[in-house]
Amino acid sequence: HAKNCGKNNAKLYSSSLTMQIMSHVKLEVGLRRALQNNELYLLYQPQIDVPSGQIVGVEALVRWRHPERGIISPTEFIPLAEETGLIVPIGEWVLRTACAQARNWADMGTQPVRMAVNLSAKQFKDDNLTQIVLSALQETGLAPGLLELELTEGTLMDDARATMFTLEQLRGIGVYLSIDDFGTGYSSMNYLKRFDVRALKIDKSFISGLPQDSENAAITRAIIAMAHGLKMAVVAEGVETDEQLVMLEHYGCDLAQGYYLGHPSPPESVTLMLGNQYALATPATS
Ligand code: C2E
Ligand code: MG
Ligand code: MG
Ligand code: MG
Repeated sequence: HAKNCGKNNAKLYSSSLTMQIMSHVKLEVGLRRALQNNELYLLYQPQIDVPSGQIVGVEALVRWRHPERGIISPTEFIPLAEETGLIVPIGEWVLRTACAQARNWADMGTQPVRMAVNLSAKQFKDDNLTQIVLSALQETGLAPGLLELELTEGTLMDDARATMFTLEQLRGIGVYLSIDDFGTGYSSMNYLKRFDVRALKIDKSFISGLPQDSENAAITRAIIAMAHGLKMAVVAEGVETDEQLVMLEHYGCDLAQGYYLGHPSPPESVTLMLGNQYALATPATS
């Protein structure tokens, strides 16, 4: 009886594994074509300056409009893009598209809006990274100071010497760097001190339990205190309620991002938000 059971399980397991592999391969073939078929697009999520409530930045978040499967989340296809190396051309497209959009907003003449772009580990290790960033800035005419690259702790801590070299090159161009999902990976305080990083983004898993969760509250306060001590700014990710925002303001958090403040949105919607904000902030002249 036990033997039978095992056999059935093995069969079930192998057929679902085959299905998984097949859909994985199909997805990979599709991803290769996604770029040339214009199936990728970017949404932009506002980043708010907590004291003033103004939008001072946006984060570019990629989406894949698959012809059969509909919209696929980056959590599903970015890992596949990393495995296959497709992240390099995809990342280059993301960077250029985001820089072009940021240049459009800069030309509107409203308050400056910084563009944050996610970089995965493979992109960060690519020898051409600095050149790719430089060409994206040159081709779009975006001021380097309006571009911020988001890296994770894992990417930064992997190879300290190489990391330091790449970070210095990027800072040399004039772009800013921030650490994404901070608190979920491994960071060496020693490196945090040495790396020239503008901001730490507190991972949304710490924000989601606020204001009730006293442990997450303690962690959030500690990250803010440490960042400020190291002259870094703090961005809270995943702010979903007014209570969370009030608490973060009380803790001295600099910037906030989350559904409560704005969902990842198409560029036209962000243009409207920026226009409204500018109209409200600028007294009408008669
Ligand atoms: P991330 O960089 O940490 O981006 C924040 C994620 O949190 C986004 O998910 C965003 O939609 C989501 N989010 C924003 N506000 C809230 C909120 O209030 N509550 C909750 N629960 N979630 C919120 P998304 O767009 O699905 O992206 C997931 C991840 O995929 C990103 O995490 C980033 O690591 C990666 N990713 C996205 N776009 C790119 C890209 O262009 N290049 C690379 N390399 N990675 C990307
Ligand atoms: Mg990010
Ligand atoms: Mg994050
Ligand atoms: Mg992330």
